[in-house]
Amino acid sequence: MKEIKNNQYHPETLSVRAGSEMTAFGENSEALFLNSSFRFNSAAQAAARFGGQEAGNIYSRFTNPTVTMFQNKLAALEGAEQCVATSSGMSAILATVMALCSAGEHIVSSRSIFGTSTQLFGNILKRWGLQVTFVSQTNVTEWQAAVTPKTKLFFVETPSNPLTEVCDIQALADIAHQAGAHLVVDNCFCTPAIQCPLELGADIIIHSATKYIDGQGRCLGGAVLGSKALMEPVYGFLRTAGVTMSAFNAWVFLKGLETLFVRMEAHSSRALALATWLEAQPQVSRVYYPGLASHPQYALALKQQTSGGGIVSFEVKPKASQTPQQAAWALIDATQLISITANLGDAKSTITHPATTTHSRITAEARAEAGIRDSLVRIAVGLEHVDDLKSDLRL
Ligand SMILES: *Cc1c(COP(=O)(O)O)cnc(C)c1O
Repeated sequence: MKEIKNNQYHPETLSVRAGSEMTAFGENSEALFLNSSFRFNSAAQAAARFGGQEAGNIYSRFTNPTVTMFQNKLAALEGAEQCVATSSGMSAILATVMALCSAGEHIVSSRSIFGTSTQLFGNILKRWGLQVTFVSQTNVTEWQAAVTPKTKLFFVETPSNPLTEVCDIQALADIAHQAGAHLVVDNCFCTPAIQCPLELGADIIIHSATKYIDGQGRCLGGAVLGSKALMEPVYGFLRTAGVTMSAFNAWVFLKGLETLFVRMEAHSSRALALATWLEAQPQVSRVYYPGLASHPQYALALKQQTSGGGIVSFEVKPKASQTPQQAAWALIDATQLISITANLGDAKSTITHPATTTHSRITAEARAEAGIRDSLVRIAVGLEHVDDLKSDLRL
C-alpha cells in the first residue's frame, strides 16, 4: 500500500483514502479487528511496547488497528496532528476536561451548547471543583470579561444547537490565547466537510461521531483532535479511564467518513431549500439557518463555513386557541415521514421540540435566556427529496 501524504490531495480524496492501513491480505476496505489484546514475539518486545519504545498494538482499550485507522483519517480531514477516538461525544468532552483541567480551575463556555454538555459542566464537573462561567455565543466582550487567572479552556459549539448561532472562532481564539487558555470547538454540526476550526485558530476539536460522521444513525462515538502536546494527556486519560471507542463502531465510522463530503453537500442543499421555503410560510414566524441572508451572522457563517449545514430551526405561530408549545407539538405530531427523535446527522430527517426534549433539563429561565422558545421546532434535514419534507410539514 502506497503512503497517502495528507498535503498532496484534496480533503474529499483524503476522506476516501487517508488513514487506511491494509494487512497482508490486500483487502481494499479497512478490516475490522475484533480482538481485545495483541501478542508479542518475546518478553522483551512486550516490555518495549508497554514502555513506549516500540510502536504497536497492546490492548484494545487504548490501541486497536481499526480505531487507529479512524483516528488517522479524521485527523487528516481536520488538519490535526492527533486524534483520540472515544466512546461517545460526551466522553470526548469529559476526557478533554479531565485531561486539561484540575479542581479550582475555570472554563468559559457558551451558554448555547448541547444541553447535555451544559449538564456536564454546570452540575457534574462543578461538584469536582471546576468553575464554569456561561456567556453569550455571539458577544465576544462577555468572553473577555469572564476570563480569570484560573481560566484553562474556552468551550464553544458553532453553529449552536438548536438556534444555529454562529460564533467568531478567530476572535475567541485570540482572547483565549491572550489569557493563556485553549479554545475548544465542538464541530459536530459542520464536520470538516464544512468547517475546519483549527485553521481558524482553535486548539482542540470535539466530535460526536454519532451524528454526521456515522451519517446513518447506527453507532455512538466521539473524538478529540489537536496538537500532539495537547492530545497526550487526553490519550492518557482514555488509556486509564477507558472511555474507548469500540472497534466495530470505528469500522462503521471509517465507512461513514468516505461519503462525508457528498452527504454534507446534500444535507446542506436540502436544508437551504427547506429554510428558504419555511421563511415564506405565513404560519412560521422565524427561521434559524446560517445559510439564509436573514441570519444575524450570515457574513461570519460564509467566512467560516463552506455551506449552512443540515440543521434548520423555526418558530411556529400559535393559532388563537393554542399555546406556543401546543402549536409546535401539533406540527410535529402531524408529520408522517419525518422521524420524531432528537438525534441528528442521519439520512432520515428528524424533528424535535428542543424545549421539552434536548433542552428540557435546563431551567425555564436558562432556556429563556438562551432564546429557546416553546414555539421552536428543530429539523435535522436528511437525504429525502425536499418536496416530500415540505409536504410532510403540512404548513
Ligand atoms: C450529540 C451531541 C453531543 C454528544 O454526543 P454523543 O455522541 O451523543 O455523546 C455533543 N455535542 C453536540 C453538538 C451534539 O449534537
